[in-house]
Amino acid sequence: MGELFSIASIQGVGPETAKEFNELGIETVQQLFEYFPYRYEDYQLRDLAEVKHEERVTLEGKVHSEPSLQFFGKKRSKLSVRVLIGRYLITAVFFNRAFLKKQLSLGQTITLTGKWDQHRMTLTVSVVKFSNYTSDESIEPVYSVKGNLTQKKFRRIVEMAFKQYSNQIKEILPESFLSQYKLLLRKEAVRAIHFPQTHRHLKHARRRFVYEELLLFQLKMQAFRKVEREHTKGMPRVFSEQSVQQFITSLPFPLTSAQKRVVKEILTDLKASYRMNRLLQGDVGSGKTVVAAVALFAAVNAGYQGALMVPTEILAEQHVESLKELLEPQGIQAALLTSSVKGKRRTELLDKLKSQEVQIIIGTHALIQEEVQFNKLGLVITDEQHRFGVGQRRVLREKGEEPDVLFMTATPIPRTLAISVFGDMDVSVIDEMPAGRKPIETYWAKQSMLERVLGFVEKELRQGRQAYVICPLIEESDKLDVQNAIDVHGQLQQHFQNYQVGLMHGRLSSEEKEKVMVAFSKNEVQILVSTTVVEVGVNVPNATMMVIYDAERFGLSQLHQLRGRVGRGKYQSYCVLLADPKSEVGKERMRIMTETNDGFVLSEKDLELRGPGDFFGKKQSGLPEFKVADLVHDYRALEVARQDAVRLISSYEFWKEEPYKYLREYLQNEGILSGGKLD
Ligand code: ADP
Ligand code: MG
Repeated sequence: MGELFSIASIQGVGPETAKEFNELGIETVQQLFEYFPYRYEDYQLRDLAEVKHEERVTLEGKVHSEPSLQFFGKKRSKLSVRVLIGRYLITAVFFNRAFLKKQLSLGQTITLTGKWDQHRMTLTVSVVKFSNYTSDESIEPVYSVKGNLTQKKFRRIVEMAFKQYSNQIKEILPESFLSQYKLLLRKEAVRAIHFPQTHRHLKHARRRFVYEELLLFQLKMQAFRKVEREHTKGMPRVFSEQSVQQFITSLPFPLTSAQKRVVKEILTDLKASYRMNRLLQGDVGSGKTVVAAVALFAAVNAGYQGALMVPTEILAEQHVESLKELLEPQGIQAALLTSSVKGKRRTELLDKLKSQEVQIIIGTHALIQEEVQFNKLGLVITDEQHRFGVGQRRVLREKGEEPDVLFMTATPIPRTLAISVFGDMDVSVIDEMPAGRKPIETYWAKQSMLERVLGFVEKELRQGRQAYVICPLIEESDKLDVQNAIDVHGQLQQHFQNYQVGLMHGRLSSEEKEKVMVAFSKNEVQILVSTTVVEVGVNVPNATMMVIYDAERFGLSQLHQLRGRVGRGKYQSYCVLLADPKSEVGKERMRIMTETNDGFVLSEKDLELRGPGDFFGKKQSGLPEFKVADLVHDYRALEVARQDAVRLISSYEFWKEEPYKYLREYLQNEGILSGGKLD
């Protein structure tokens, strides 16, 4: 981006000041220009009628009373004065600035900035000017500074830098984009970010940088994808179309059209010479397992092995069951590998895997251990992939020779996040449920209605059905006043004397967990009290009732996952949310749960209510950090930027022509095009 000028070359910046800037990570003038304010102080005059409670505001008015001063102890004081603002008489309050008393005189015009308390008609003043309001510097940038660097000094130096170097701010977006989207020139936008004249001006500048930031990000993602496709030598898996079709026809049910579409996308990837890197999203119960089965079948038919990795042993066992049922009649050997497979059985299994006698392996993390070796691993599928860290996903991919990879998830990821976090992947979506599914009926009940809810549970049990009861905690906590599984288990044992009540939580050993789960799936246990460990994938079609204690403590996506444990058989199923949410948002969340069964609608709502950071949980979310853009609010821009990036990366002009020079340079600097990988 042109020549780099040191911060010390700005007039008035000596070695001391330069060092202060260096501390903030600012070495060059360019970096200074791109060091954006983190907020703005707004001194624009406002009409009091439009100001909301607790808003910061600047007002102009006339002193209307003698100020009164109160002291609290030696240092603390409160100065109050009545001020006439247009037709409103308000109270202005100054804390610990007793000296102002002498400067305020009746009838004097003053300009005040502070926080407005609508109920008390009071402004707590932080800035006062003893003059008429003037519009210069009405919106002031506030920078993140430290040490001896003050806001004032920072602003002065940015101003000086602008005088000297603003011509160095190069446009990086092609002209055609600027006119198409009516974006400010980069130079103008940088100026507006640092010296905004009006809110509109600032918004306009921000809009430009949102687009720029998202476009660069998406270009990076798309370039990654291109590099992956063209430079990892994926193997074409040559399978017999006819056999795959026969296998599909042999399934106990016809595929839904969404399943058919997704299967086609996956088979196309398998056949192609690039390496599959695909995310498969489908709501709970949408039928991802058979899709996985078809993919595995095709891989094996082509002479390869397949692996399916899941987060829990219970889930692994269930997958083995259903996959064996589908694949063994086709002469395909599928086996389970978890940490509970030990000793001789384990050695034997590992041998068979190495010799390809076993073609499909299903398991937990155990699959990514060193000792697990394949003869010819061609396809890796992970279920509920977001529970695996990025690192674990990578290790699995590195087993075998460039296997194709399919990530399946039942947590519908809002599109904005999907194309950010998984921007380098292809995405398939199963957006249709198998026919004849009865939607789960969801109710929201106050904790005080527990007796009635238990009556409802009993009714289901009497008809031979089973129930899940979910609690947020395992055992009592003195910090949180919420239900815990151990206590609830005890209470329900008392209440339901004619039925077996099981208990399941994360602190049980995997053998204990498995025992409870098997008992529940055989209907030896009718009520399963559990923490969220049952959240993922468990399949007991006879369970029709789900009660969730303290439901307001869970996110919408998680509630939806939990709810997905029922409604898996031919019976009508129910979900009761026991919750007394205090906040409006909490109530809204309960309401929306009762209104929709659509995981995508819920995930969008969840994102809106909780923000992107919380959506995936704190760690390893893989969420990109943006300086200006916001994934929730700028989703439209993200979508546009993505389309533009896809188009650019695959166009001839982008790689050759002048207007795209700076964008190419950017990719180069990011190391994506290094090593002559792309040109
Ligand atoms: P998930 O997407 O949650 O993993 P599953 O693969 O477990 O869903 O499928 C849920 C249930 O729906 C299973 O019992 C499965 O056999 C059944 N199923 C899947 N696809 C179809 C279909 N096309 N028609 C009818 N039932 C189906
Ligand atoms: Mg599943």
